[in-house]
Amino acid sequence: MKFGTKAIHAGVEPDPSTGAIMTPIYQTSTYVQESPAKHKGYAYARGANPTRNALQKSIAALEGGNFGLCFSSGMGATDAVIKLLNPGDEVITSNDLYGGSYRMFTKVYERFGIKFHFIDLSNAKNAESYINEKTKLFWIETPSNPLMRIIDIEACVKLAKKNNCLVAVDNTFASPYLQNPLALGADIVMHSVTKYLGGHSDVIMGALVTNNEKIHQDLAFIANSCGAVPGPQDSFLVLRGIKTLHLRMERHCFNGKKIAEYLKNHPKVGKVYWPGFADHPNHEIAKRQMKDFGGMFSFTLKNDSLEKATQLMESVELFSLAESLGGVESLINHPASMTHASIPKEERLKNGLSDSLIRLSVGVEDIEDLIADLDQALAKV
Ligand SMILES: *Cc1c(COP(=O)(O)O)cnc(C)c1O
Repeated sequence: MKFGTKAIHAGVEPDPSTGAIMTPIYQTSTYVQESPAKHKGYAYARGANPTRNALQKSIAALEGGNFGLCFSSGMGATDAVIKLLNPGDEVITSNDLYGGSYRMFTKVYERFGIKFHFIDLSNAKNAESYINEKTKLFWIETPSNPLMRIIDIEACVKLAKKNNCLVAVDNTFASPYLQNPLALGADIVMHSVTKYLGGHSDVIMGALVTNNEKIHQDLAFIANSCGAVPGPQDSFLVLRGIKTLHLRMERHCFNGKKIAEYLKNHPKVGKVYWPGFADHPNHEIAKRQMKDFGGMFSFTLKNDSLEKATQLMESVELFSLAESLGGVESLINHPASMTHASIPKEERLKNGLSDSLIRLSVGVEDIEDLIADLDQALAKV
């Protein structure tokens, strides 16, 4: 089955009791049992819910994986992966990471004795000197947020497998439409479903997909034991959102390309970080491992002025100034004070994230209106 057909049909069967074509919202906490421990596969809704099950199958199919699990947020999903580890274990991860992941790794899990190495993984070889017998996991995010660096997933997998490490990929920015890490050898794919999969800025949710039954069972055990599971209403909304994922992604990519090119040619714009440009340092890897370049990117203004960047963010009318990404509406964001404020300033600067950097999540509106909005806002700065 091709991607668009899977987006509409995978995991979703007509409801067995009524034939309802849409999976019902099974708003229940428990299920009546025929006799003790004899039931229809559902005992208590932390463990399983039919609406959530349908969604888990759908997301697994989109990633080309056998097993899917949904969580109450992307961070809940990430948390479950880190809980596969033990005190003393070490993790190789990138230095250009989602702020919330960086915060969880350094502020929560370092206290539990897990060590994280934050490395520039845009060259996988940089990891070699950090690997030792305690290294158990590679946590990769590509394209990275907000600088759109691309990590070669296959190269990391090769290095990790040689050293018996698991590879987990945060695939949120690409969505399953653009990139499928399991096909490149990764063990686990993580999504902040909040973003492209949900697609309508109305749900917080996370997901994990794997082909490995043992890993799946371990993760399902953690999900049920620790309890970060999503509710059925949210699962329903995401099932609905996924039906148009392929259509939305086509437009995100189309609009993203037009705006990246528009900004690159604008005299007031400094640097545009978009992997679709032939002169992007990781363009060739992006072309190889992604189907297209998506609707996310960042840019600076000439002279790198924070004051002018602020002026621009206050002058846009159609773009909304907000955190998050991947919804149908276009958003503008200031990483240093918003999404990435939890990373200390010295760390941010060291990794090339300047105070004037502006991030766009290009939505699916008409391109003429989006460019007209940026044009009027840029004229004011
Ligand atoms: C948003 C996001 C997360 C966290 O997901 P939540 O659903 O907000 O908990 C993790 N990684 C990336 C790349 C994200 O954009």
